[in-house]
Order: sequence, then C-alpha cells, then structure tokens
Amino acid sequence: MIKLSKRLQTIADYITPSNRVADIGSDHALLPVYLLQSGKCPSAIAGELNLGPMLAAKKQAADAGLSDRLEVRQGDGLAVLAPDEADTVTIAGMGGSLMSDILEAGYTSGKLEGVKELVLQPNVGEDAVRIWLLNRGWLLKDETILEEDGKIYEVIHAVLSDDAEKQNEVIYDGSFLQLDLEKPTLTALLIRMGPYLLRRPHEALVKKWRSELQKLEWICKQLSGSELPESAVKRDQFQAEMKLIEGVLNCLQTDKR
Ligand code: SAM
Repeated sequence: MIKLSKRLQTIADYITPSNRVADIGSDHALLPVYLLQSGKCPSAIAGELNLGPMLAAKKQAADAGLSDRLEVRQGDGLAVLAPDEADTVTIAGMGGSLMSDILEAGYTSGKLEGVKELVLQPNVGEDAVRIWLLNRGWLLKDETILEEDGKIYEVIHAVLSDDAEKQNEVIYDGSFLQLDLEKPTLTALLIRMGPYLLRRPHEALVKKWRSELQKLEWICKQLSGSELPESAVKRDQFQAEMKLIEGVLNCLQTDKR
C-alpha cells in the first residue's frame, strides 16, 4: 500500500469512511490511490487541469490496478464533476485564493451539489478559504497544523450542517483570547490564524506566526527607508498588524504535540 506523507495522511484521516471522493488538483493521485487501497473509500475521481500531472495520475492508478475504481479526468477545478458524483471533495497543495475560486466556480455551476464534506489544504492564504466556507454556509469542523520537511501546512475540514451559521458564530467567537479588542477584529484574527488552531495551539502555529512577524518586520524596515507618504501609511498598517499578531501569540498556551 502507498505510504502517504504526513500532510496527505492528515487529509486522508479527515475523510469520512465509505464516502466517494473527488481529489481536485490530484497530480500523482497519491491520495485517491491510498484511499482505495486502504479500503477507506469505494471509488474516487482524480481531477487535474494539466496534461502532465493528469497522465502521472493515470499511470499511478493503472500501476496500482485501480483504473476501474479511480477515474482520472482532465479539467479545471470542479468542472470535472457531475452533480451528486462525490460525497467528499479534497483540494490540496495550491494557494487559498485559487482554492476558493475553484470552490466558488463549483458552487455557482452546481458541481458541489451532493458534496457533504470538504478537506482543504491551502499552501498559503488560508483566510481566503475560511472566508469562502463562512460565506457559503459550511461548518468549520476542525483544523490541523503540521510541520513536514521544514514546511508548515494547515488542513481544514468542513462539513454541511443545518445549524452551520449558529455553530460558526461560536467557533469564530474570539473572546477566549482575552484580548481587549472589538469583536470584528477578533473574528478577523481567527479567520486569519484558524479558530481551532488558536484554541489548541501547537508549536508549529507559533513558529509560523513568528516567521510572519519577521517578514513583516523586514518590510517595515524597508518602508522606513522611503520618504514617500504612502510608505509611512503602509508601515503603520503593518506595525498595527504585527501588534495584533504578537498580542495573540502572547496569550497562547502551547504544548509540544
Ligand atoms: N494535490 C496534490 C498534493 O497536495 O500533493 C498535488 C498538489 S500540486 C502542487 C497542485 C496541482 O493542482 C498541480 O498538479 C496542478 O496542475 C493542479 N491544478 C492547479 N490548478 C488547477 C485547477 N484549476 N484545476 C485542477 N487542477 C489544478
């Protein structure tokens, strides 16, 4: 059986057993092959935009003797799906902004019909994904942050639920942070940093945001060298952002999981 990376295994572990899965942007189709080999899922679709990765996915399916249960399709995002063809959609290894564009296009064209579960691993721009989920009424069920080969990844699990709006309100309530900030500012921080990740802080989370702070500090230094008034405005904005992030980090209790 295929051995997945820690990142792909985290995604696999979130998928509800027996669900039919569509993995969008599947490249070598490692995740769907694992899901079929392990018996976790009965069938899968691997969607790929580009020819090279699509052929690699086809070869992986054929080599594993799974071509009858793993359909590899070439196309843009969720366009490869027919309504009610998948219970779970996974999208991993691309930016959060592209991911939310793919989800929105899928939503407006009805391709998400029948899909009950999303497992998403944006490489950057996780906030864009959380905002899309909130706007389209998905319940944020859980999140994981992990470090592998020097990189930090976030995995987001969302499901359909009748009371998603009510539950999300509780999930995105930042009062647990005990920071003296307005509610919308706290919610924006939770959207950016992950409401579950902040409630169960892992050392990878602190590492990620300490590194973000370093980048912002460097930008502020560059801006200080400019005499343009816009640069001063930008620097003030970045400094305010840094103060918020530092405030959050200071009130987190981390353990070494
Ligand atoms: N999902 C795999 C993983 O996480 O290991 C592969 C990630 S790879 C970095 C991203 C893949 O998404 C590439 O193979 C790329 O061709 C594909 N891709 C990019 N935009 C896409 C789109 N709009 N629709 C489908 N696939 C897309």
